[in-house]
Amino acid sequence: MTLAARGGVSPTRVHEMDAIVVGAGGAGLYAALELKQELGPTARIGVISKLYPSRSHTGAAQGGVCAALGNTEEDHWEWHWFDTVKGGDYLVDQDAAEVMCHDAVETIINLEHLGLPFDRTEDGLINQRRFGGHTRNYGEGPVRRSCFAADRTGHAILQTLFQQCIRREVTFFDEYQVLDLALPEGPDGRVSGVIAMQTATSELHAFRAKAVLFATGGYGKIFKVTSNAHTLTGDGMAIPYRRGLPLEDMEFFQFHPTGMHRLGFLLSEAMRGEGGFLVNDTGERFMERYAPTMKDLASRDVVSRSIYLEIAEGRGIGGSDFVHLDVRHLGAEVLNKKLPDMSGFIRTYFGLEPLTDLVPIQPTAHYAMGGVPTDVDGRVLRDAAGAIVPGFYAAGEVACVSVHGANRLGTNSLLDILVFGRRAGKRMAADLADLPEPAADAEAEASVQAHARDLLEGTRGERPAVIRAELQETMFTKCGVYRTQQLLTECRDEVAALRKRARHLLVDDKGSRYNTDLGEAFELNFLLDCAEATVGSALARRESRGGHAREDFPERDDADWLKHTFITRDPAGGDLSLTYKPVTITKFEPKARTY
Ligand SMILES: Cc1cc2nc3c(=O)[nH]c(=O)nc-3n(C[C@H](O)[C@H](O)[C@H](O)COP(=O)(O)OP(=O)(O)OC[C@H]3O[C@@H](n4cnc5c(N)ncnc54)[C@H](O)[C@@H]3O)c2cc1C
Repeated sequence: MTLAARGGVSPTRVHEMDAIVVGAGGAGLYAALELKQELGPTARIGVISKLYPSRSHTGAAQGGVCAALGNTEEDHWEWHWFDTVKGGDYLVDQDAAEVMCHDAVETIINLEHLGLPFDRTEDGLINQRRFGGHTRNYGEGPVRRSCFAADRTGHAILQTLFQQCIRREVTFFDEYQVLDLALPEGPDGRVSGVIAMQTATSELHAFRAKAVLFATGGYGKIFKVTSNAHTLTGDGMAIPYRRGLPLEDMEFFQFHPTGMHRLGFLLSEAMRGEGGFLVNDTGERFMERYAPTMKDLASRDVVSRSIYLEIAEGRGIGGSDFVHLDVRHLGAEVLNKKLPDMSGFIRTYFGLEPLTDLVPIQPTAHYAMGGVPTDVDGRVLRDAAGAIVPGFYAAGEVACVSVHGANRLGTNSLLDILVFGRRAGKRMAADLADLPEPAADAEAEASVQAHARDLLEGTRGERPAVIRAELQETMFTKCGVYRTQQLLTECRDEVAALRKRARHLLVDDKGSRYNTDLGEAFELNFLLDCAEATVGSALARRESRGGHAREDFPERDDADWLKHTFITRDPAGGDLSLTYKPVTITKFEPKARTY
């Protein structure tokens, strides 16, 4: 039966829970596990995920998760803290990064006890390898800090946490797409649930709970060439943004240096961590010129910009838009045992043999440094002054704590989702007793219903995929690695025009069973919101810092721009406004950044 034939979409079920986690990646699962551990077996903890949990993007993470265990050489969490602050081009809140780097060691040991199958040294300790920007003794040279399970570290994390959640009887709502928050009008402006559509039936479900955590991952699908999966559409950023809540530091988006040429799939930095390096058309190992100490293991923003400069100066391979990654010398033992998936990707997608062939790579859109602003316990901030939204929490890539500042170091994201997912779960458990009973948000439920009905009943308009492709092209070419006022202005206007066109979308599938066409229409609007916030924040920031490189303002400008951007959209009129929040500096004074 079509949805229209049975009177459109209606809220058919209400679920009462104690706490809701939206997202079943590493951040969401660790939070859910902590909630159960803190509150006991009778607590009603629901995890809602638009994907089956083991398909969450954490499972795609490859190279590792860092902690200064010092298992293979001397290391200290303070060195890690410094590297994180410097890697983030000094836009990192240093108190938050201190929490992350300090808690890292205990978090990894806890994961090991939960059953995570890390690679081992000959002595049976967790093995560690090098990654970009991680140094010994405050920048002297590379250090082995990344803990790994071959090049399937994210997969191992996801499976371990999922199994532990099943063991603790967390309730899973798989393949439910959250479309709005229950945020009833009122003086306290608290969150008390979510509204979701079940993919299998297209029915609406209202979930009520005293506390809601968003752990919905990133939004890399706003770009044409990206390492991110089709589902990373920024839903968890767009939903609060539409409700007038701020997004922080959205102008900082990371381009990873080694995406597979034209495909964007990632070849992990672990390939360079194990000794691979980049070469240009003349066969030169060019990173030695740009980063004499760290070379190919400089931070990602530095390496990606260096690749672009090589290409711009005509030293791309055959004068084209890519350079080569050389891993031939690593040998069969390393490639097949420590990097089996990466070697497989090269063989499968390029038909090349990494032992004998050079691999074509180009920077690929990879990671959102910005997101929903939170404190170190996952509590969502209402404004740059630090007011809290009661009952609302965020953790993982959707959130901005801010521990990555203007550029994240490799392996610090898996660490972020684990440390802050876990802390958010603990905090929610502690807060539950003081939070009021949840209230329904009839207006939000009606609005989601009306939107779904419009999409299903409409017979004219454009297909979401057409607008999405144009958005991705615009964002990649005009708000990518290098930006200018002119490009960003054009980009802003084009995104605004696409938003207008997206008011009338044509959803071909009018059925109720697994209507992914409908889901993608919702996702397109989330992507457009994230794009608007990204380009709006980027236009205002007239300096170059980390992942935000302005050709027209090539220097970092600490006097005017050592501050976080908070962008909000007025839910009534649609006007954007920007406010700024000072960066917290506790130990490391900003200095020039060289590698
Ligand atoms: C190819 C690749 C390799 C990487 N390798 C590394 C690495 O080696 N080390 C490292 O530190 N980092 C790495 N990263 C980054 C890291 O993997 C991610 O930042 C991290 O896994 C994000 O985890 P998360 O829990 O925040 O979200 P995700 O794992 O992305 O999970 C998001 C969850 O939210 C759900 N969701 C989203 N929207 C909705 C909605 N509307 N309704 C309901 N559910 C929703 C999804 O179903 C999913 O369960 C890599 C990233 C990529 C793309």
